[in-house]
Amino acid sequence: ATPTSVMAGSGRAAEYGILFKGGEHLESAQQIQTVVLDKTGTVTQGKPVLTDVITAPGWTEAELLQRVGAAEYSSEHPLAEAIVSGIREKGLLLNAAESFENMPGYGVRAMVSDEEILVGTRRLLANAHVEVPEGMLQQMNQLEEQGRTAMLVAAQGQWAGIVAVADTIKDTSREAIARLQAMGIDVIMITGDNERTARAVAEQAGIGRVLTEVLPEGKAAEVKKLQESGRKVAMVGDGINDAPALATADIGMAIGTGTDVAMEAADITLMRGDLNSIADAIEMSRRTMGNIK
Ligand code: ADP
Ligand code: MG
Repeated sequence: ATPTSVMAGSGRAAEYGILFKGGEHLESAQQIQTVVLDKTGTVTQGKPVLTDVITAPGWTEAELLQRVGAAEYSSEHPLAEAIVSGIREKGLLLNAAESFENMPGYGVRAMVSDEEILVGTRRLLANAHVEVPEGMLQQMNQLEEQGRTAMLVAAQGQWAGIVAVADTIKDTSREAIARLQAMGIDVIMITGDNERTARAVAEQAGIGRVLTEVLPEGKAAEVKKLQESGRKVAMVGDGINDAPALATADIGMAIGTGTDVAMEAADITLMRGDLNSIADAIEMSRRTMGNIK
């Protein structure tokens, strides 16, 4: 493409809230064959709400939520924010934990009133040798089959309950994904979340292929694998944990409402959270490159 047509194309894209960091990305976006979408905040609204609280025998809901709220208080993860605001809405007052540790891809560990509190995945509790009754794991499965993210809670090495949040897909995700598929592009969803939740969400969004329980450092490795199979890959994400994958992909697209770290790592920022911008960006690239012929 001529410098003039690239400049004109970039300007037109910007009017649609699609910000190319350099003209070379407008030229290469047309080559994309596979689009990898992060789940939380990309396919979904990324504003989960607290929906379910299950307590272990001997625990009241308030006792459980006080601990969970304190443990999640200092975390900036969207799940943590959902849990904390859900607890506040129930009228419970929260104190910050005495100490707090983020365990990316697993959850949090915190000291609350001299008790060690864990909130997170099955793996987080299994690694800490906390046993969870079979019936509870089944209830957790059921929540996940509804597309909710369920998190286990342990206090002092004992199972204490489950909290679950729901994060609905964006109104436009399904049509935007169908558009990409109609353009001949493969769409894959990637997430740190578990298989059941991810499948339920993917089904709502019309996505057939999902990569689940991918740890933050694993997202870039999955992108690399797809590239090694000969595909030109775009990664679309919003989180800190998406940044390495955004940088690895042939084209990284950050959602403008997401984290600064994601935007810095990406080649394109999509100012509108609407995933239609992905197809728009690729179409604009196709059109711009068509200009030279
Ligand atoms: P995603 O790729 O969907 O953004 P993450 O890699 O951030 O997911 O997290 C993976 C899983 O780890 C979550 O689905 C959740 O079960 C658990 N997790 C992560 N952060 C927290 C947290 N602050 N509190 C509880 N659980 C968490
Ligand atoms: Mg995300």
